[in-house]
Amino acid sequence: MLRFPIYLDHNATTPCDPRVVEAMLPFFTQKFGNAASRHHPFGWQAEEAVDRAREQVAALIGAEPNEIIFTSGATEGDNLAIKGVAETYASKGSHIITCNIEHKAVLDVCKHLEKRGAEVTYLPVNTEGLITPEQVEAAIRPDTVLIAIMYANNELGTVMPVKEIGAIARKHGVLFFTDATQAVGKISVDVNWDTIDLLSLTAHKMYGPKGVGALYVRRRNPRVKLSAQLHGGGHERDIRSGTLNVPGIVGLGKACEISALDMDADAERLSRMRDSLETALLDLEGSFVNGSREHRLPHVTNIGFKGVDNEGLLMGINKEIAVSSGSACTSASLEPSYVLKALGLGDEVARSSLRFSLGRFTTEEEILYTISKVGETVKALRELSFS
Ligand SMILES: *Cc1c(COP(=O)(O)O)cnc(C)c1O
Repeated sequence: MLRFPIYLDHNATTPCDPRVVEAMLPFFTQKFGNAASRHHPFGWQAEEAVDRAREQVAALIGAEPNEIIFTSGATEGDNLAIKGVAETYASKGSHIITCNIEHKAVLDVCKHLEKRGAEVTYLPVNTEGLITPEQVEAAIRPDTVLIAIMYANNELGTVMPVKEIGAIARKHGVLFFTDATQAVGKISVDVNWDTIDLLSLTAHKMYGPKGVGALYVRRRNPRVKLSAQLHGGGHERDIRSGTLNVPGIVGLGKACEISALDMDADAERLSRMRDSLETALLDLEGSFVNGSREHRLPHVTNIGFKGVDNEGLLMGINKEIAVSSGSACTSASLEPSYVLKALGLGDEVARSSLRFSLGRFTTEEEILYTISKVGETVKALRELSFS
């Protein structure tokens, strides 16, 4: 049985996996202790749960547990990584390399630092939505302190050449930070294989709860130093003060454990459904895929429908199907997506695109319904505009 509305906006957020909720529940009631309480079993119990979650998160990305700092999500992780490095390494220089389709949580931090004297190079992506390792290498200067390139883009689903970028960063002795929010739990990510020094992730994009995430900070070869952005009780090795969100952290840990187990099967199933959705929608005249189809997450497709305004398209389908026209953070504005414009698309073409992001609980039936509903609506809008 189909249930409406159908949710195909998993890059904005995901539902909690019931197994995650189950793991979290005791930590709201019986096991409510403060993980920093050293003198009684309530605290020990909470601390033990946090330690276990730290292992689960670390295991998913090939890190050591003591390299994981819990945060309130990827926005905080992005801020902490970039500002923390910029402050700590200010004596070496203040040049940062990033790219023009990063999430706003990276771009706006860079803009903020520019106002305070930092220099930032925003590498332009090509028409596929990718930057090349050569672009990164050519941008490195003696005063470069950080390369910040996302693992996978939230609007396009495209996956950057992270391993090559990591190798270049290491060769030049520059730290490499990646916002891996969309990649972790969906494709295999390993901080050592990819030579990553800092990495942010968030629970709510991987079937965990909102408001909790983690920042990986490398402790060996090299040992990355980070100045705190939140000062207080000295939690998280003095890098991120504030009472730990124990239920959230337990949920994040469980979400990581489940993702590690289910990743391959999920990716296989979702890419099959994504491909059939994409193939069917590409059969409509004048439709096209935005971004590389080769270097891409398994569950995402961003499709443009030439001559169709996505506002009208969304109005036509959004009672039954939840998708988005850009990222959740910028979709409130009528501005065309800066990510699509970075691919070289004009405003009108950029405004004709929709992002479909499938998830763990998406069914074949939902995809079949989406194919017919989007198809009908696109055709109806085309007829309107030609009559
Ligand atoms: C969702 C997202 C963020 C923000 O994560 P929050 O946990 O919601 O703060 C950052 N970067 C990317 C690439 C995202 O997709």
